[in-house]
Amino acid sequence: MIPSDFYNDRKFCEHCQAYVSYLQSTDHSYCVQCGRAVRLFSETDWNAFNEALKERRPKGGRPTKERKESA
Ligand SMILES: [Zn+2]
Repeated sequence: MIPSDFYNDRKFCEHCQAYVSYLQSTDHSYCVQCGRAVRLFSETDWNAFNEALKERRPKGGRPTKERKESA
């Protein structure tokens, strides 16, 4: 799992290709090292995050196959 403390004060800078300390502005956050906008996750982690969300939220409309316990 992702250690939340770590991500609380760091964001991913695509320019530095690393999680960096950042400066919080009104709308965006900026890398303290290169001054570019940073994002919450790296693309890899973002995809993994979204995949985890998808798995946690089952799609509706599909019949469950757990009927065998209805004895
Ligand atoms: Zn940077």
